[in-house]
Amino acid sequence: MRLILVGPPGSGKGTQAKRLAASRSIAHVSTGDLLRDAAARGTDLGRKADALMKQGLLVPDDLVIGLIEERLGAPDCAKGFLLDGFPRTVGQARALDGMLARRRVQLDHVVLLEVPDEAIVERITGRRSCSKCQTPYHVTFVPPRRSGVCDKCGGELTLRSDDTEEKVRTRLAKYHQETAAVIPHYEAQGLVRRVDGTGAPDAVYAAVEKAL
Ligand code: AMP
Repeated sequence: MRLILVGPPGSGKGTQAKRLAASRSIAHVSTGDLLRDAAARGTDLGRKADALMKQGLLVPDDLVIGLIEERLGAPDCAKGFLLDGFPRTVGQARALDGMLARRRVQLDHVVLLEVPDEAIVERITGRRSCSKCQTPYHVTFVPPRRSGVCDKCGGELTLRSDDTEEKVRTRLAKYHQETAAVIPHYEAQGLVRRVDGTGAPDAVYAAVEKAL
């Protein structure tokens, strides 16, 4: 199965993507995670991406497309994959169409998580993730047993530097200006499954499963 998960920042893409990819034994490919990893390793690409990410701006298409092209060629993507955070522009969507056609494979579904902007801003500033194993939490909705400590590995929970209110508003504006345009691109291919993303993670997950 080949899936794309689309939605505004803070719509729960990361949380749903992890569960969906695990339940279907397919690769979870997050461009945000790949870019943060490149930045942490201090690669050329990582350095270029880091400053843009910190401002909540999009990384240029050619860099992200190159990253995805390489990642989709890895053996774990042969059984299927779930793209989380890609494509974010129509240019990226067109490039992905080309990559899939060259590999002679097709997408099965594009899941769109719908959450209003004000709910996003409220949600996102409470978001935390484990600095060691990346497990996501939320201080109100998915709190860890001990404040600031990962339930799974005991790692420290941290706030992403782009999860402040100001950066969130910039990222939402980018989403509406650029990313929302990929929805009609996939609607034309009959692939879009709209899911209400406003509930708790378990309820949203059930709705996604139903939509698939
Ligand atoms: P995410 O973890 O998906 O919220 O992504 C975090 C940041 O990484 C975004 O705000 C962008 O700066 C960058 N990013 C991730 N995916 C893409 C993409 N497909 N195109 C451009 N920038 C991206």
